[in-house]
Amino acid sequence: MSMIEIRNISKWYGQFQVLTDCSTQVDKGEVVVVCGPSGSGKSTLIKCVNGLEPFQKGDVIVDGFSVGAAKTDLPKLRARVGMVFQHFELFPHMSIIENLSIAQTKVLGRTHEEARDKALKLLDRVGLKAHASKFPGEMSGGQQQRVAIARALAMDPICMLFDEPTSALDPEMINEVLDVMVELAKEGMTMMVVTHEMGFARKVAHRVIFMDAGQIVEDAAKEDFFGKPRSERAQHFLSKIL
Ligand code: ADP
Ligand code: MG
Repeated sequence: MSMIEIRNISKWYGQFQVLTDCSTQVDKGEVVVVCGPSGSGKSTLIKCVNGLEPFQKGDVIVDGFSVGAAKTDLPKLRARVGMVFQHFELFPHMSIIENLSIAQTKVLGRTHEEARDKALKLLDRVGLKAHASKFPGEMSGGQQQRVAIARALAMDPICMLFDEPTSALDPEMINEVLDVMVELAKEGMTMMVVTHEMGFARKVAHRVIFMDAGQIVEDAAKEDFFGKPRSERAQHFLSKIL
């Protein structure tokens, strides 16, 4: 069964068509990596999945709910879809434990104690339990991004969306974040990951989507994509980044 189904999405910013008839699906437990040149529409596509960006044509179905339908409770659906961005976007004026607790209490109605327990468990899992009372500004980029992942997991998401989670990090911090993502993938989390980290893709992706100029040019099993991408544009892209 598909957890995420993207059906013929087209989107315009004014006159500019940013997405053209994009379709794909992500099954439960599947890890799909999205790559492609800068400006090809990767961020826009992934934001359409949880309705952060509206689209004019097509629909996205997440766990059976239509993102485009007016009757869908979008905030409720969004609360169940974890999203991790390039810039960690932690709340700077809150401690790490507060960052992980606030939406649990406010959105899910958990008690402060439940939220705290869950937060500490997740911080332990990403190796940061000792930092619970620090503030984001006191932590490295890699640590902040691990906190952002833990914060998303605290909501018990049905799937996770990542948009270039390591591209703002210093090289020595990339692996600590990728390791957390690899673990998550191995545990069976449904994931859609925009990244140029092809090592990560080779290790855990089931499929690779290649985008160019707002279109899904290639949507292939990992083995086929790395073996020999069909399109020239994907071959060219791979030859430049590998
Ligand atoms: P990618 O993530 O692959 O780099 P994006 O989805 O961010 O690509 O952007 C795709 C295209 O849409 C780019 O040409 C970008 O300039 C344009 N774009 C992105 N956001 C906006 C916006 N808010 N208004 C107008 N154009 C935008
Ligand atoms: Mg982007």
